[in-house]
Amino acid sequence: MLIAVPAETQLHEKRVAATPETVAKFMAAGCRVVVEKGAGLAANYPDAAYLEKGAELADDFAATCGSADLILKVRPLNEAEIPALKKGAAVVSLVSPFTNPLLKSYADAGLTCFCMEMVPRISRAQSMDVLSSQANIAGYKSVLLAMEHYQRFFPMLMTAAGTVQPAKVLIMGAGVAGLQAIATARRMGANVEVFDVRAAAKEQVESLGARFVEVASDVDAEDAGGYAKEMDDDYKQRQADLIAERAAKADIIITTALIPGRPAPVLITEEMVKSMKPGSVIVDLAVEMGGNCPLSELDEIVSKHGVTLVGVGNIPALMATDASGLYARNLLNFLTPMLDRESGGLSINMDDEVIASSLLTRDGEFLKPELLNKGEKA
Ligand code: NAD
Repeated sequence: MLIAVPAETQLHEKRVAATPETVAKFMAAGCRVVVEKGAGLAANYPDAAYLEKGAELADDFAATCGSADLILKVRPLNEAEIPALKKGAAVVSLVSPFTNPLLKSYADAGLTCFCMEMVPRISRAQSMDVLSSQANIAGYKSVLLAMEHYQRFFPMLMTAAGTVQPAKVLIMGAGVAGLQAIATARRMGANVEVFDVRAAAKEQVESLGARFVEVASDVDAEDAGGYAKEMDDDYKQRQADLIAERAAKADIIITTALIPGRPAPVLITEEMVKSMKPGSVIVDLAVEMGGNCPLSELDEIVSKHGVTLVGVGNIPALMATDASGLYARNLLNFLTPMLDRESGGLSINMDDEVIASSLLTRDGEFLKPELLNKGEKA
């Protein structure tokens, strides 16, 4: 099987879908690997490191991917890339399934597309979970970004010149990114408060030494997949009142709240930003999905009402070496059970929940029609 690893072309993308380590594993499994020249450079994986593991190098996207059976990517295939691939080729990547307008084009081009965001969050698939591996990085780095823009200490300090109070960090959403942000802010010595609609998050938050701010509710806010549901207006109002109270006292707010397939919920309003102390910082991790704060701007760091709003869209790319290393291992773990040495292709078993959930297109067919409407509307 010929595996291709093209360079990523999306603005601000520095990650790569295979590292020299995973290339060596694919080669040991009997595959040939072609890497586009410079594909790993921005993530600190030079061409020579791939060559050393036995990969071949190619000059551009078409030369890398044109005859490949399997293409490994980080970002979704774009319009210019689709015609360069051979019919029947398999593509494994992030797909942005709720907003990508090209989903049908992938099926029309006869590609076999796997969407890594749709790998189910079951125990067996944890090692393939790209959402977790990348959100973990985003949560960690969000705290470092906040520290960089905050002109005060995080920990409490008792110095000869007086006592410095610890920073108060408010975190919205205690999923994978939020939990890592809590752990990182706590390690830095901050006091941390956390909101989440899922009551199940309370125990995890408290075990990390943070305070869970509860909004009383009879509704179960967690769906069968463990994700948050959109809450009713009454809940939203009560939550907004509590957030307003806590935001005014916070020095740093890190927002991570997402609802799959929906715009991010607005949690920090302009009024709340105005109530914050001068020099406070908001890092909006939901900015690519519209933002949890309407004042944050995608890929910009802006100052409004004396508050710095950090709207970096692709935070994992700021830590491209580890982000690529973990993402590449997720892909390796996902693909290894499917590699078929005898046929030199992928063995696709639709009885396997992991494969059935993540396979989007095959043999010209689009297998998840419920997504198509959303993608087309986007
Ligand atoms: P996510 O990125 O979809 O959302 C981030 C957080 O925002 C979630 O905790 C969500 O409850 C919260 N949120 C949504 N709306 C909110 C609102 N209005 N106010 C406050 N918070 C709000 O979440 P995620 O990190 O992908 O995690 C989703 C779920 O998947 C969690 O239950 C997590 O524990 C679970 N999970 C399971 C596995 C596994 O078992 N393999 C792996 C990772 C995550």
